[in-house]
Amino acid sequence: MPELRQNFVTKEWVIIATERAKRPEEMAVHRPIKPIAAHLGSCPFCRGNEDKTPPEILRLRGPRQGEWSVRVIPNKFAALARDVQPERTIRRSHRTINGFGVHDVIVETPDHSQIMALMSDAQVSDILRVYNAWYCELSLDPRIAHITIFKNHGADAGTSLEHPHSQLVATPVISWQVRQRFHEALRHYDEYGECIFCQTLEEELSEGVRVVSATEHFVALQLFASPTPFCTHIYPRRHMASVGDASEGEISDVRRLLRSILGKLYHVLENPYFNYTIRTAPAECVGVKYFHWYMSVIPRLTRVAGFELGSGMFINTVLPEAAAEFLRNVKVEDAIATSAT
Ligand SMILES: [Zn+2]
Ligand SMILES: [Zn+2]
Repeated sequence: MPELRQNFVTKEWVIIATERAKRPEEMAVHRPIKPIAAHLGSCPFCRGNEDKTPPEILRLRGPRQGEWSVRVIPNKFAALARDVQPERTIRRSHRTINGFGVHDVIVETPDHSQIMALMSDAQVSDILRVYNAWYCELSLDPRIAHITIFKNHGADAGTSLEHPHSQLVATPVISWQVRQRFHEALRHYDEYGECIFCQTLEEELSEGVRVVSATEHFVALQLFASPTPFCTHIYPRRHMASVGDASEGEISDVRRLLRSILGKLYHVLENPYFNYTIRTAPAECVGVKYFHWYMSVIPRLTRVAGFELGSGMFINTVLPEAAAEFLRNVKVEDAIATSAT
């Protein structure tokens, strides 16, 4: 029997289509892996082409003298403009704010050919450290209401530039989709006196069937009402509303888990296109007891079509419990060694 399952925060329903369920291994993309050059003269993000980007905002030094490891630069084709004051206008039913906002690119490595799933621990650590630092810095800007950090890997995930990079967009408003999560989490907190994420995490750890892997400070799992196959969430065990609250030790711990999840997905799904995003408290909600930050890794294996657009409901053809078991059994260090040969 197919089953409808409800997301614990958003309350959205998902159809788990067990009738046409696929085995997890059937989701592999089988895209030929083409060799990628380590350096491209035409790529603005490559080592040596730093003058082809807008002036750099932040740089993390690399292990070798004069080299960088991670850079933050303004997006040349920014969706928003950072040098204006946000001003609201309300004219009858029409509400607008001028296009204030920040749209930055985090260049994850000087090496064009790197793939995050195969990067060194130190490199992934550097990337996460830059997210954390830049998030904390921008959160202090009173014009900013919300910050989204995300990565698009591959054409189907929305990237046009091959060089490994992620992005940060800071907006003067909080979207309805984010607000709705906050409302639901706050409602739960008012009713039960505890964080809905902490509670669900405890339940998931005791059931264990959807947990993929866990470290000292973080847990990676498949959602009970997972909207898409292999959609993986990574939660801190300690209650923290914002990614800016993570300590240095926690950052190096989550780096291990993120790298392991990306490595598992890379191996079993054969370098799938994916997005990840960090869902964290808006600047106005720093330190709240009812929201809990997390990372969401979403392999792009299926397309959003008419039903999803029309109903807001997703159909998932892979059982989350089967996906979790499948990923648990991939020994990532072995897997990465095999795929590199
Ligand atoms: Zn490049
Ligand atoms: Zn919590």
